[in-house]
Amino acid sequence: MRIGVLALQGGFIEHIQMLRSLQADAFEIRRKEDLEGAMDGLILPGGESTVMGKLLADLGMTERLQGRIAGGGLPVLGTCAGMILLAREITGPGAAYLGAISIEVRRNAYGRQLGSFHTEAPFKGIGPVPMTFIRAPWIERAAPEVEILARVDGRPVAARQENALVTSFHPELTTDNRVHRFFIDIICRKRKTP
Ligand code: GLN
Repeated sequence: MRIGVLALQGGFIEHIQMLRSLQADAFEIRRKEDLEGAMDGLILPGGESTVMGKLLADLGMTERLQGRIAGGGLPVLGTCAGMILLAREITGPGAAYLGAISIEVRRNAYGRQLGSFHTEAPFKGIGPVPMTFIRAPWIERAAPEVEILARVDGRPVAARQENALVTSFHPELTTDNRVHRFFIDIICRKRKTP
């Protein structure tokens, strides 16, 4: 199984290590050409969404990515800034980036300074999961077709719509690999249903 990890900026290395520990063939995506090869799934990591969004546009990658993900296409996991890149709407000023999942996200929702914390909360289909938040967004609103998978203090922090899975937190920063396994299961199920 080949899974690409967007490696323009941010915490991509930990995702690659996590995927390799699960026997997946993980590779870095740095240029437009890297989006053309065979790929079973894609991860958009945490980092700074404004920087990553600008780099995607400058490198001419935005439309190609949208095209591959749209309409139940390429399975994609977005964590933290990756979730912001995938959202259809961002609270406040500023346009959305890829618009691949029908959620509105609030950037730096927990505050900029005291915004980093660790907790544990139930994740639908997995059980209690350790969650590390770093200046994280939360999901402000979600369309009915979006399934909310986890909440912290009543705020949705993980969701799925078809092939798109998003988390506010950083599953790659713990030793618990079950969120990545959950993503790999989505890929496997998709391969079986043409
Ligand atoms: N605050 C960052 C943003 O708005 C996200 C932080 C993260 O990915 N850890 O892009």
